[in-house]
Amino acid sequence: MPEEIEKVVIVGSGPACWAAAIYAARAELQPLVFEGAVSEENRLAGTLPLGQLALTTEVENYPGFPAGDLSGYLADAIAEDRRRLMAPHKKEGVSGPELMELMRQQAVNFGARITTDDIVEVDFSSRPFRLTAFEGQVCTAHAVIVATGARANYLGLPSEDQYKNRGVSACAVCDGALPRFRNRPLAVVGGGDSAVEEADYLSKFASTVYMIHRRHELRASKIMQQRALKNPKIEVLWNTTLAEVLGNDKDGVTGVRLQSTVGEPDLVKDVSGVFLAIGHTPNTAFLKGKLELTEKKYIRWTTPARTYTSVEGVFAAGDVADAYYRQAITAAGSGCMAALDAERWLAAKGL
Ligand code: NAP
Repeated sequence: MPEEIEKVVIVGSGPACWAAAIYAARAELQPLVFEGAVSEENRLAGTLPLGQLALTTEVENYPGFPAGDLSGYLADAIAEDRRRLMAPHKKEGVSGPELMELMRQQAVNFGARITTDDIVEVDFSSRPFRLTAFEGQVCTAHAVIVATGARANYLGLPSEDQYKNRGVSACAVCDGALPRFRNRPLAVVGGGDSAVEEADYLSKFASTVYMIHRRHELRASKIMQQRALKNPKIEVLWNTTLAEVLGNDKDGVTGVRLQSTVGEPDLVKDVSGVFLAIGHTPNTAFLKGKLELTEKKYIRWTTPARTYTSVEGVFAAGDVADAYYRQAITAAGSGCMAALDAERWLAAKGL
């Protein structure tokens, strides 16, 4: 039997992926989505299905979800088998995982097919394109939309690596409620919105949260800055960098040694957790040599206001190609654009 060629395969798991899947499904392209594998490796890397929003709490800035109790709506909208996997609704507007489940369900409702596996290899050198998944599934496709997002960065200190999962984390929401962090001083590294969000979240459990920031002003938006500066449990340590995570085999993290960026002496603080919030790296390792990437390894959009990449028929959407906006709403918007671009390209080619 001749091999079935997919019209469009979507690789990814966040808002860009699901928006692309909704639009592609409604355009009757029968999209096949590879949403990523549920594996320990992906958990540690922060690349599980549903993307980065699965690692957050409340989403206050996605239009259409003001504060309120969505219990009834979530129960109606999301399939029972998926609802069982979800944390209880907090009745305060939408959470990241809920928003992603809603998007995923919407794509399923319109006929998107989903494989819970990673694409580990692509061949864009001949047509149809060929994609290989971790478990060995191979598929061919006329068009591909890459929406694999980005993952949290670490500083790369040996001591940071030594204590990963024993007090060092890049996801407060995933790990912050663990007993080892309760009523203890904790540190968050970074000065952006993520750092403030993490510090604010951790302040619910911690005795004190030190924000370690290398400059004398936060990069975070004004409203987030206020949130940090007004929180009595958050103390910003200005002009400091993390030089070493201190600890031992028995207790894991016990402290941090901080260096001054303005010539002050080193500082040691007792903490039982260190949370990194210093930006992201795009998930493009599997595309090396296959698509043009930027210096920072994001996929390069080759045409203004289009989601085209360096290979005709391959489109990119969301944080994997966007180092600038990196919002759920912009990712979803570019997912929609990628699906429309793919649909029009396929039509122009008569595919
Ligand atoms: P970001 O805005 O790039 O901030 C990264 C922070 O980490 C900066 O303060 C940076 O310091 C610091 N940093 C980077 N590399 C470092 C290093 N090697 N050593 C020490 N510090 C380092 O990243 P983000 O906070 O993850 O935010 C990304 C995007 O998501 C932003 O557009 C943000 O607005 C958005 N976001 C929004 C929300 C929300 O609205 N609720 C929440 C989270 C994120 P410098 O400031 O000195 O460069």
